[in-house]
Amino acid sequence: MELAEYHALQKLPAPRGALYGKPGAAGLEEAYRLLADIAEGDGPALDLSAGVGLVSLALASRGAEVLALEERRASCRALASTAAACAKMRARCLLPWELEERGFATAALVPGAERGNLWVRQQLQAAAHALEEGGVLWLAGSRKAGFDRYLGWARELLGEGGVVARRREFRVAALTKLRPAARPEAGFATIEARLRGRRLRFFVLPGVFSADGVDPASRLLLERLPEEVAGLEVLDLGAGYGALSLPLALEGARVTLLEQSLAAVASARESFARAGVAAGIHHSDVDEALPEGSFFDIVVSNPPFHVGGRVVLHVTEAFVAAAHAHLRPGGRFYLVANPFLKYERWMQDRFGNVRELHSGRYKVLMSTKP
Ligand code: SAH
Repeated sequence: MELAEYHALQKLPAPRGALYGKPGAAGLEEAYRLLADIAEGDGPALDLSAGVGLVSLALASRGAEVLALEERRASCRALASTAAACAKMRARCLLPWELEERGFATAALVPGAERGNLWVRQQLQAAAHALEEGGVLWLAGSRKAGFDRYLGWARELLGEGGVVARRREFRVAALTKLRPAARPEAGFATIEARLRGRRLRFFVLPGVFSADGVDPASRLLLERLPEEVAGLEVLDLGAGYGALSLPLALEGARVTLLEQSLAAVASARESFARAGVAAGIHHSDVDEALPEGSFFDIVVSNPPFHVGGRVVLHVTEAFVAAAHAHLRPGGRFYLVANPFLKYERWMQDRFGNVRELHSGRYKVLMSTKP
């Protein structure tokens, strides 16, 4: 996939108005579809993990005034277009605990199960806090991905409610808020790690990748990078909280981080600030936020993957294209991945060369820009 194709918004067929999507954006999964078919409510409604706006659009078509929240940049981009085409919908790119508005009659949530319990708890707390008493939370998810547990937590927070719709392993529950709920408060947890011979501390918010310690694949990639990086310009694609780029910055590299999750961006900013080193840290869908004419000596990436997740394969393919587009001649792209993912083909096609620097539980691949 070419970068221009990756970045293009697509108008999707939708029964209830104009819905926009793009590669890398979430929000069309089965739980969203079931929720869009079921959720209703008039008055002010809050869509807490709006994706590209499918559920928001459905609520708007049934009479609600919808505020759609999203923090993943690819989804935010599509959501902004969906909202621009719908008079009853506003979109904001915000973390759940940053929302100040309250008094919603309806809230809708597809919890981000893949992002861990702390994240889902924050999402539920934000929903409970933002609803008015008597307001209804529509909660959707898969029984194979924690739905029953989340429904239990939602009951504890809000009050009464149960399952109102079923489709295969997917469920929607409706719960009524019967008591006041505290404001969500997310703090930074600390991770300590020894990387490239140096003790480091990272500060991480709920919902970021590998929040309980530096990923072993990332460690492996760091070990395969050149010993001498001082003075080099390094780009970190899908940077998370900066596990790859902070150690390099402390060795004197000039680093730029691109990351689509706002929670991860805030974590990286905190980690660099507390370490006292400068970096360019951008909330970005692949290279979207990179200033024009930016070129690098090294690009590093531990790209996102989900088994069977087509969305994410598009993202990694775009990472390979972006690495090629932003490297200087002679510059190197280092990528770490699970052995079953066949990224060599994309790297070979794009760069005309690829080497395996390490194989085992993870493989480290390198391509050189001609
Ligand atoms: N480099 C970090 C994180 C690796 S996980 C580390 O080594 O710990 C992959 C990261 O890619 C995640 O933080 C994820 O949020 C991010 N990501 C996913 N899709 C993206 C996209 N479209 N653009 C930029 N980053 C993306």
